Amino acid sequence: MKYSLGLLGYPLLGSLSPHLHSAALKCMGLEGEYHLYPIPEGEQGEQPMRELFNRLRNGRIQGLNVTLPHKQRVIPFLDDLTPAAQAIGAVNTILVQEGKLIGENTDAPGFWADLKRVFPHAESEAGAGGIALVLGAGGAARAVVHALTCAGWKVLVAARRQEQAQALVKDLRFGDLQALNLSPQSLQPHLPSLRLIVNATSAGMIPNVNVSPWPEDLPFPTQAFLYDLIYKPRRTILMHRAGAAGLQVANGLGMLVEQAALALECWTGQAVPRQAMWDAIAERDRSSAEKTTRGF
Ligand code: NAP
Repeated sequence: MKYSLGLLGYPLLGSLSPHLHSAALKCMGLEGEYHLYPIPEGEQGEQPMRELFNRLRNGRIQGLNVTLPHKQRVIPFLDDLTPAAQAIGAVNTILVQEGKLIGENTDAPGFWADLKRVFPHAESEAGAGGIALVLGAGGAARAVVHALTCAGWKVLVAARRQEQAQALVKDLRFGDLQALNLSPQSLQPHLPSLRLIVNATSAGMIPNVNVSPWPEDLPFPTQAFLYDLIYKPRRTILMHRAGAAGLQVANGLGMLVEQAALALECWTGQAVPRQAMWDAIAERDRSSAEKTTRGF
């Protein structure tokens, strides 16, 4: 069988997903292709989106990943959601089971798997009543908060629009959750108790690399671990500043690999070699560095 897989989103510039999936399929000895489906939101995207879902239903495509801005928008097109996707309210993976389109969310287990890799105390801290601060309250924050509360973390969700954080807390319901304003005044009292900070905002992502979601005049809690979901650039200004203040830091590249590998496991039913995906990233980084050096 030749797999036809892909990613639905917009604009999908410079996506690493085709490289990750192609490398893993090859390593698994499976034939397949991974296409990008850049479909805009709004009226313009309606017909192409319908056609894409028809191709899934009639078996011409076996699986789709979904990214911004469609993670919530695809839900009405699907027949069912897994309990995790239902709880999070967002889908990043679509699979076909007996002709039905099922929405799954591999961002949450992908984040948790990678957090445990880079921060080995993630489980014991959760068991000891650890408090995590999640910055941002968009789609990715929902998956992160779900993963953390399921693991036993107490979670503070801070967004620049506090109503967005409140909506997240209301929708997720499960776990010890509190919504905050992303301001020095509301974060200051919590700093001594934080063990983990997760940046789930897009602040600092290319092209806005000089933006940090952390308030300028707020000190970093040096006992906390910082996980930044962003991986473009590999080291954000937030990671740079927190690292300089003494925090251990990690970017979101491992989460990208894990969520991709978990999606491919859903579609193929086979174990996916993460190393093949990491090698594909290293290869991409090498060729981009060479192009920069040669002035392309
Ligand atoms: P989203 O739904 O658009 O949410 C973005 C969040 O960031 C919103 O709460 C937004 O607030 C906030 N934000 C943006 N700029 C900000 C700033 N300057 N200061 C404070 N808050 C700011 O996006 P998403 O899907 O959740 O993705 C968020 C980030 O996670 C992106 O960088 C994405 O690439 C990354 N991500 C990584 C992985 C991975 O595998 N590593 C997976 C998923 C997502 P407003 O609504 O007020 O603008």
